[in-house]
Amino acid sequence: MGEILAYAEQSGGKLTRAAWEAVAAAQRLAEDAGGRVVMTLVGQDLHRSASELAAFGDEVVAVESPSLGEYTADGYALALRSVIEQRRPRWVVFSHTYQVRDFAPKLAASLNAALISDCLGYRRQADRWIFVRQVFQGKFNADVEFDGDPPHLISFQAAAFRGDSVVPGPAPGRVTAVAAAFAADQIRTRPGERFREAKQAVDLSQAEVIVAVGRGIKAPENLELARQLAEALGGELGASRPICDSGWLPMDRQIGSSGQTVAPKLYVALGISGAIQHQVGMKGSRTVVAINKDPEAPIFEVASYGVVGDLFEIVPPLIEEIKKAKAG
Ligand SMILES: Cc1cc2nc3c(=O)[nH]c(=O)nc-3n(C[C@H](O)[C@H](O)[C@H](O)COP(=O)(O)OP(=O)(O)OC[C@H]3O[C@@H](n4cnc5c(N)ncnc54)[C@H](O)[C@@H]3O)c2cc1C
Repeated sequence: MGEILAYAEQSGGKLTRAAWEAVAAAQRLAEDAGGRVVMTLVGQDLHRSASELAAFGDEVVAVESPSLGEYTADGYALALRSVIEQRRPRWVVFSHTYQVRDFAPKLAASLNAALISDCLGYRRQADRWIFVRQVFQGKFNADVEFDGDPPHLISFQAAAFRGDSVVPGPAPGRVTAVAAAFAADQIRTRPGERFREAKQAVDLSQAEVIVAVGRGIKAPENLELARQLAEALGGELGASRPICDSGWLPMDRQIGSSGQTVAPKLYVALGISGAIQHQVGMKGSRTVVAINKDPEAPIFEVASYGVVGDLFEIVPPLIEEIKKAKAG
């Protein structure tokens, strides 16, 4: 029992997808272990996101300050530390975003608490709570347990929990605004200009349908076929690493451990073997359709539907059928 604090990340006052995933994870833990979820926000002008969150639990704690307007590791760690010290939750749940990677270790160290980062999920074994995280570039899954007294900090990999599975509360929860209890000079860094992504950069993590191509596509001129399938399905084009390394598609299309992590409703893998480094980026997809001529290809282990065959024979009639179905 005890409280479970969910850190809801926001950007410019808007809740991110990671925020909902952290709330979903905390709600699941509360369901399995008992306890109450308290959602926490850090930043400035949090009114809108706090009331949005309040529909999904009975309490939101918003730590606000002008010095938290721009993200800094010092500021965010100090802000959350004061909430954690005050509430003494059992678990603090984060999504494993770039920001969390940056400040959560520092926060844990300042609390003399443990952090198990980048978890895929958890399971209960009698009274023990075991968190599962990948090691060695996803080659192995490690079972990790907390030792010692709470608070215990956990971050979950993107798409480990679905943001759209959050459960609304019976009535809107209470929003408690907390003034940040630290001096401005405790923030030792000053953010520079915001990093601007390359022109035309796509955020595949938000795509609902992705058609991803691998080396089985053989040549850059054949990408047109995948593009047509993506268009017919109303989706985005993604790729395995060798396709981006060869410059056939830009790097922002790469899916996997060194590319984007995606969780669309539909993921179509064309000529992708399904190496572990690729799988870690797409296994959160709801439905995976794999087309590969090798029946032993590891992609079939994570596929909901597998088609063993030559993509050049299968994809053109597939496009025609989709077009017909849409027209009819
Ligand atoms: C540190 C590190 C990080 C990495 N990060 C990533 C990453 O982020 N993303 C990533 O994708 N990879 C990553 N990799 C590379 C990864 O290990 C694989 O090498 C890569 O994913 C393989 O890409 P592929 O499936 O396109 O090619 P291959 O493994 O060569 O597979 C091609 C597949 O196409 C099939 N095929 C061939 N012709 C046809 C046809 N006509 N019709 C149907 N199927 C056909 C074959 O049967 C085969 O299964 C990383 C590797 C390392 C070491």
